[in-house]
Amino acid sequence: MNMTQLTGVGPALAAKLAKLGLNSVEDLLFHLPSRYQDRTRLVPLHALVPHTSCLIEGQIANSSLQRGRRVSLKVNISQNGATLGVRFMHFHGNQTKSFTKGRNIRCFGEIRPGPQGLEMVHPEYVLFDEVAPTLADQLTPIYPTTQGLSLTRMGQLIALAWHELDQKNLRLEELLPRHLITQYQLPSLEDSLRQLHYPSLNQNPDELQNQVPPAKLRLVLEELIAHQLTLSRAKQHHQSLPAPAFTNNQKLEQSFIKTLPFQLTNAQQRVWQEVSSDLARPLPMVRMVQGDVGSGKTVIAALAACRAIDNGAQVAVLAPTEILAEQHLHNFSHWLEPLGVNVIWLTGKQKAQTKRQSLAAIANGEGQIIIGTHALFQTAVNYQYLGLVIIDEQHRFGVAQRHRLIQKAPKGNGLHQLVMTATPIPRTLAMSAYGDLDHSVIDELPPGRKPINSVVLNNLKRPEVIERIHRACSTGQQVYWICPLIETSEVLQCEAAQDTATLLSQQLDNLVVGLVHGRLSSLDKANTMARFKSGEVQLLVATTVVEVGVDVPNANLMVIDNAERLGLAQLHQLRGRVGRGQAQSHCLFMYQAPLSKMGRERLDILRQSNDGFVVAEKDLQLRGPGEVLGTRQAGAVGLKIADLLRDAHWLPEVSEVAKRYASHPQISAKLIHRWLGDNQYFAAV
Ligand code: ADP
Ligand code: MG
Repeated sequence: MNMTQLTGVGPALAAKLAKLGLNSVEDLLFHLPSRYQDRTRLVPLHALVPHTSCLIEGQIANSSLQRGRRVSLKVNISQNGATLGVRFMHFHGNQTKSFTKGRNIRCFGEIRPGPQGLEMVHPEYVLFDEVAPTLADQLTPIYPTTQGLSLTRMGQLIALAWHELDQKNLRLEELLPRHLITQYQLPSLEDSLRQLHYPSLNQNPDELQNQVPPAKLRLVLEELIAHQLTLSRAKQHHQSLPAPAFTNNQKLEQSFIKTLPFQLTNAQQRVWQEVSSDLARPLPMVRMVQGDVGSGKTVIAALAACRAIDNGAQVAVLAPTEILAEQHLHNFSHWLEPLGVNVIWLTGKQKAQTKRQSLAAIANGEGQIIIGTHALFQTAVNYQYLGLVIIDEQHRFGVAQRHRLIQKAPKGNGLHQLVMTATPIPRTLAMSAYGDLDHSVIDELPPGRKPINSVVLNNLKRPEVIERIHRACSTGQQVYWICPLIETSEVLQCEAAQDTATLLSQQLDNLVVGLVHGRLSSLDKANTMARFKSGEVQLLVATTVVEVGVDVPNANLMVIDNAERLGLAQLHQLRGRVGRGQAQSHCLFMYQAPLSKMGRERLDILRQSNDGFVVAEKDLQLRGPGEVLGTRQAGAVGLKIADLLRDAHWLPEVSEVAKRYASHPQISAKLIHRWLGDNQYFAAV
């Protein structure tokens, strides 16, 4: 039913509602409270709990203006010998006068610890002399709203929607499979929705938020199923065009395997089998290869590239940073040029002349593997016959960017996509955030790697750390010193790295110190990296630009400054730069005291585990899915009522149901529409 059919809803209001994705009366019923407030009871002043919101009442004892960084109005309230301060930062004269001693006041707000005891800052309040205002008779739902649409109005609209439903005797369609409803004894859809909009009395708002009683489970399951369905749709969409089946010869592939100085690990062999059988099908591959740092993903990428080239197709290798792209350029050229493969380099910072040459080689098909950054999908780039794209650290790229690259396939064709990530994604999260991709996991490191020894150190130990660098370098080892983001501005960040490099080269004046950061020209960066790789530079001072992909096996000591400021996954990535050679490696996480309890716990996780999946799982618990997934968060946590962490254990069952729904396109469409509205495309692809 159209929104404007509701009494009092005109085009202007309908437009505001549309901003929230509310386009029909049914949508209003599915617009669920994000939380609840309890205005049904008064909390006595002696029983206040900091950081909770509550309704309180008392008598005004006094009020005064207080000077701090700015003037504030402080009203003290008392009740049976207990007191509470109420503070206003914005106020006007009449307001000041209205708080006369002895009057009764009732407030609703959050209790916070203040300079002189507990306070409520800017509560909602009413003053009264004799007759106390009535209490609410149910929990107050708090709805997401938008500018110009008050909470009260939203509540009214939702009530109106229910009224309309009852009046017209309409029913909401049940879309959950019957067996789930019986198995978990779920209430009807309508009852579930009503209970969430208007929870019965005596419910604790926090419990309502954090627990999943049957009424809520009913909706959580629906939403998760809808979410899974959009992901499988996205996958169908990826595969709606044909792709070349790479079944022909495997000459290059075989020669490449023969030249490798090592044997593939069992995990690499298994993953290569998975990739290879995808490539042999006339449908686009959409596969993500996950593997901890150093697990050897690049070899898989190179094998896939060989298979494509054996079948006459071009391969694009896309990396998020120049350093990483250069690393791939180095590996691919080193491995495949001796076998006669033409590897081409393309980045935004290339000189016009060389860029023209690259573009020509890409267009006439001479370039077989094209490696680069964002430049790879610019409009000016025309591929002769692009058949495979390999995207490294794909979470760094947006949906739109990946799409632009896919558009480079020959007209009417799809592409094989191999995306690689060293960010270990816990299984449950992967299922819901990347359900549109097939997954392969390289869950084994090449033999002979020694676990990195990690230590957490107070910044005050700096002199000893410097001494340690001195010792390491004098025995021919190489060292990384990482300066993470200390300032929000990139300029300042790079200056900080610069200063550190200057300081360290004074303190370690017999060492060759190199510096890389994001503001250096790509030539300078490449030069320094090459000098580090060759062993000439002994100590490399860098910002987090070296986080991914850089491979210098002789570097086996890493110092990370201000480690408390970085995410665990990022620290784990950085640490993965060492531990690549035969010698024992060490990583020193230096922190600036004082370290919070959470900060200590996080660094301890790294100290105790070298396993990226363990680190990621813990990180997920500590920080939540949005942070862990980075750019995917919009899609991953755009959930109204389900919570990926809390409800993760339902995902296997949900995905089973979603699979069965694939043969009921009408029901699927309705579910998707109900829960994701028009946002489905962005949520999934
Ligand atoms: P990542 O998964 O982090 O991208 P790389 O592909 O860069 O890892 O591999 C890390 C290092 O391990 C490289 O020096 C690579 O040549 C080497 N390597 C890869 N596979 C094996 C293997 N099966 N045995 C020994 N070394 C290997
Ligand atoms: Mg890599």
